[in-house]
Amino acid sequence: MKKTNRRDFLKLGGLALAGPLVATGLNVKPAQAEKLPSYGMEKHVPVNCRMCAQKCPGLARVVDGRLVGIEANPQSVLPGVCGRSVAVAGMVYNPNRIQSPLIRVGERGEGKFRRASWPEALDLVASKLKIYRDQGTPEAVAVAVRFHGAPGVDNEVFKVYGTPNFPGYADTCWANSRAVGLGVVCGPFSKGLPGCSPSKVSINFAKAKYGVLAGRNPAGGLVCYPWAMNFCKGKRDGLRLTVVDPRKPSEAGEDNVHWLPIKPGSDLAFMLGLFHELIKNKSYEPEYLIKHTNAPMLVDAKTLQPAGVREIEKEEKGKKVKILDYLVFDRAAGEVRFASDAKNPALNGTYEVTFTDKTFKAVTALDRIAQELKNYTPEWAEKKSDVPAGEIRKVAQELEQNRPHAFIDPTYRSERYFNSFKGIQVIGMMNALIGAFGQEGGIIWNHSPKTGKLIHPPKAKAAAISKYYMKHDPNFRFGNDHYYRHRAVETLLTDKPYPIKAMVFNGANLLGGSAGGTEIVEALKKLEFTLCISPFFNETTLYADVILPDATFVERDEAINSKYKSEVPGVTINMKAIDPLFDAKDPYWISLELARRLLTAEEYATHFKPYEDGGIELLWETQLAGLKGISADEKKKITVDYLKQHGIWNGKAPIPKTKAKTPTHKLEIFSTFLASEYAELEAKGDSNALVASPLPVWQPANWMTTRDKLAQDEFIPITGFAPLNSFTGQQTKDNRLLANVGESISWDAVFINKAKGKSLRLADGDLVSIRNPDNTLEQTARVVLSELVHPDAMFSYYGTGPGAFKNLNKFYSNAPKTGFNPNHSAPYHHAPLVGGHAAHDFVIKMRKI
Ligand code: SF4
Repeated sequence: MKKTNRRDFLKLGGLALAGPLVATGLNVKPAQAEKLPSYGMEKHVPVNCRMCAQKCPGLARVVDGRLVGIEANPQSVLPGVCGRSVAVAGMVYNPNRIQSPLIRVGERGEGKFRRASWPEALDLVASKLKIYRDQGTPEAVAVAVRFHGAPGVDNEVFKVYGTPNFPGYADTCWANSRAVGLGVVCGPFSKGLPGCSPSKVSINFAKAKYGVLAGRNPAGGLVCYPWAMNFCKGKRDGLRLTVVDPRKPSEAGEDNVHWLPIKPGSDLAFMLGLFHELIKNKSYEPEYLIKHTNAPMLVDAKTLQPAGVREIEKEEKGKKVKILDYLVFDRAAGEVRFASDAKNPALNGTYEVTFTDKTFKAVTALDRIAQELKNYTPEWAEKKSDVPAGEIRKVAQELEQNRPHAFIDPTYRSERYFNSFKGIQVIGMMNALIGAFGQEGGIIWNHSPKTGKLIHPPKAKAAAISKYYMKHDPNFRFGNDHYYRHRAVETLLTDKPYPIKAMVFNGANLLGGSAGGTEIVEALKKLEFTLCISPFFNETTLYADVILPDATFVERDEAINSKYKSEVPGVTINMKAIDPLFDAKDPYWISLELARRLLTAEEYATHFKPYEDGGIELLWETQLAGLKGISADEKKKITVDYLKQHGIWNGKAPIPKTKAKTPTHKLEIFSTFLASEYAELEAKGDSNALVASPLPVWQPANWMTTRDKLAQDEFIPITGFAPLNSFTGQQTKDNRLLANVGESISWDAVFINKAKGKSLRLADGDLVSIRNPDNTLEQTARVVLSELVHPDAMFSYYGTGPGAFKNLNKFYSNAPKTGFNPNHSAPYHHAPLVGGHAAHDFVIKMRKI
């Protein structure tokens, strides 16, 4: 067999397109390329890995026409892929994949289906979904997308159809507590609401000297390879870490890692104790705080409102922007002035302010925060969190010694507890205090260029259901109008603001990935019609009326991706490495077939015929022609041919800069957004006012409000990742190549504290029944007794077992037959104001079977 060397392989990667042009598409024009016989050849095809959701750039390795794995693309500035992607063949060649279209024959949830031809299945879908459009209510169809296979085209079909409802997945992940908690401090804001997604900023692990990880394990979780590579580089260069976690994440490595076991749901208490120490020790640079933060802002100590604000216009990058200007005490002038006019704002002190004819005393934001933190001593924090006060002081000293090349990680998958938002707000405030934003080894802004669009659907007539909840639901006041999957469930259950009658799940697993199994089942049963587009069975497909199997990412060409979660801009391409297996079809073909059936001939001709004629090459060209956020010279260099050859284009790493995209254009250590929300909620006597406070204040986790202490058989379910299990499950769940490794780490088990387990007369390997006493769903799992788990916690790897929906087992042969999924047993509840799922914030009971 001829082997390629490193220099040749990318050339072959480009030629790899040459595979049979067949594919799947009667009317889909495939990528243009030369033909190359695959016999005896090894080829490398650029792909964006989708073994989890991160789309890391890699090279699919195909030997003699057979996919054998994904390798790092050395053209990337952060080359690397994880163990999941190496096991891609275990996903693709799994005979348990959905092999042909299926139509339900049993009861919903039973998982009984019959095979159907593509025309039969597509006609059935069209006949069901057309009803709502013909009735003038296209908004009655909601489309939940997670792993959509035809970006740039698939959602567009339903946008032209007329629905505004595309409830995204991330309200169970980062879209609420993390996005709002960090967003109030550093921005950005969109339509008046803060939202800092994980793609906006990164931790500069590679250059950091010290960091605090709470609620995330970048090495074990590997939620994004550029981050993991940076993390590993930092570790090699001596990065020291304090890991605050109810379970010791062994994947973070032993070197330079200090583990502090913490009571589940009490991270906020730890953070408040730490903040107390940082302020007490003056762990900050006054110049940084004055220049980059609103710490000198004068505020009314009681009402927590800025002493005075005005809107001003400034020129930024040739554009006029509106900025909120605020009062400070200018030491140079010896008087209170607006920050934009002050030369030397004071960081501390109380001053008399006269503003809009009123005279009153106002204090600097920094002093008001310090005043609030007085009572949150490390001893107070120890009582709430079980982390010894001395350890909290040590962490504060480490941060003092290493700032600003240090960080407190704002986490990723944050929707765990009612107080997660508050915890992340405090983390953001502390990072601003120690000067971590915009510093090497601190928190840096990512750079994601935007690509052009081929299809421009008209705006839907009806408003999305999310708008209703943002206005009327106190738990969704800061909610996100992209990520509102739970609000779709609410609409199904209540018909508010209008009925949703049918749902399309495009690579989305509502029942497996969202908290509140009981209510979600009820909602799914109410639907008149459910379509799942998925290569694999999952909990939601059990409730589908029709399932359409789409080709996996290595079996299709796909739109160009420019969201790289890195400060270095990147543009990547995903090309078909092998033909679709079984009777799976290219998702672009599926989209066109649905468009043809659901839309008028005129709509099809306007919006989709260009794709039918020009194919993926036209989409790629259009995306690149519309590239924004890079220089004209860079844009010239990025051509489709360049991407086919190299797989990725990377820009240059910028020198980190401190910037903030908040109303004041400063890092808001005292959030002006929250101050205004607090005032409004206070005036109404709303109990959520405390949560909206711009100050660092304690808020208990929900489970703490139900009891002072857990009973002996009670636990709080926590989850985590290894580089084996994808947080979206199915790619890694029934994967033969991962099963043995999974078994070796007991990925089907629940891990509990050894002493507590023994007191329950449990031994390693015992099968236990696990239930939330407030609902009827029961789960089973093997138990592992461990000294590395807090007594209140029960740890499980996320998404490995069938949880409460064992009908799934009949579709799998490599996946564990038992195993816990917290989402299934979690209550259908929401964190105040931000509306996150709070998927760990409940108590479960365990008993030996
Ligand atoms: S983190 Fe691993 S599984 Fe996820 S996209 Fe990246 S390489 Fe693939």
